[in-house]
Amino acid sequence: MTNKVYFTPGPSELYPTVPQHMQTAMENKIGSISHRSQQFKDIYAHTVAGLRQLLQLPDHFDILFLSSANEIWERAIENTVEKESFHLVNGSFSKRFYEISLDLGRKATKHEVPFGQGFRVEDIEVPASAELVAIVQNETSSGAGTPVAAINALREKTGPEPLFFIDVVSSMPHPKLDWSKVDSVYFSVQKCFGLPAGLGVWVLNDRCIAKAEALKAKGMSVGSYHSIPATIGKARANQTQETPNVLNIYLLGQVVQEMNQKGVDVIRQETEAKAKMVYDYLEASENFEIAVEEPAHRSATTIIANTKLPASEVIKRLSPFDMAVGSGYGNYKESQIRIANFPAHSVGQMQALVYKLKELVG
Ligand SMILES: *Cc1c(COP(=O)(O)O)cnc(C)c1O
Repeated sequence: MTNKVYFTPGPSELYPTVPQHMQTAMENKIGSISHRSQQFKDIYAHTVAGLRQLLQLPDHFDILFLSSANEIWERAIENTVEKESFHLVNGSFSKRFYEISLDLGRKATKHEVPFGQGFRVEDIEVPASAELVAIVQNETSSGAGTPVAAINALREKTGPEPLFFIDVVSSMPHPKLDWSKVDSVYFSVQKCFGLPAGLGVWVLNDRCIAKAEALKAKGMSVGSYHSIPATIGKARANQTQETPNVLNIYLLGQVVQEMNQKGVDVIRQETEAKAKMVYDYLEASENFEIAVEEPAHRSATTIIANTKLPASEVIKRLSPFDMAVGSGYGNYKESQIRIANFPAHSVGQMQALVYKLKELVG
């Protein structure tokens, strides 16, 4: 048994009740039930109802379960982009979505700003021919976030036509989205939902479904078992085409139920209070410096600091105290550290991390 607390930005610390839900799942042999059984349909319906409540989702949105956010990127392009997608790029995850569109033979265009920066809506021109606008609301590689107000302003500026796809993999449920301004959001469960990896959640509205059906009717390939047309009918019957990750769908339902008991507004307030604590420390630290310069663009959920000591040394000093932070992403591996501030991280754990960093690193 290890007592290590993972402040890594994904996979991350499990939601504190996950071991107990795992045990219940094993006692009830969830891993052996048929995915065509009523028992599975009930699990599925419970998880979807919980997510609808947490996200305050209007009725014209559906929820699909896929395997990961990477898969959702691919399905999004296959199902909703005939020719052209447009991407806001400011780090590795937003760049990857752009590349997937190119890989699938689409024309992908982008508005790119340097790593660690956010976007200014007045600088962005969405081409009139773009069918999909991709925004990674929380760029996990750099710690730059896009405020919901900026997403709404970009929608106002762009007009109603293109589908707005918002990646909230490392932030949901913190951002309070305006559902009249976006068409799809998606996340995977190993970040803010505190679960083992292997499940992607795709929220999409009737416009996304209509677009996929139109592309299919034109004779384009929209994929097979996980195309929107194939998946949506099943989802509405609390079913999946394939044998799904039943255990994780079950666990997600349990964690979301607890998040709803706590209340999404309390989770949001706690997230902001913990983020402030970490940013205040980083600002005063002799070793660290907040990586994202513009305060409005600093993520509340993935906090990134430039470090004078190599990141590996910071990680090594924390290790005997059962705490793990993330190294920098890619080229920033040694020059930055990343601290996840997810709902699974309690105020007390975050305080303990800040005290320990102060003591060990300064
Ligand atoms: C982790 C991450 C992804 C990829 O998630 P997978 O589950 O590994 O596919 C996508 N976008 C963002 C912002 C992420 O942080």
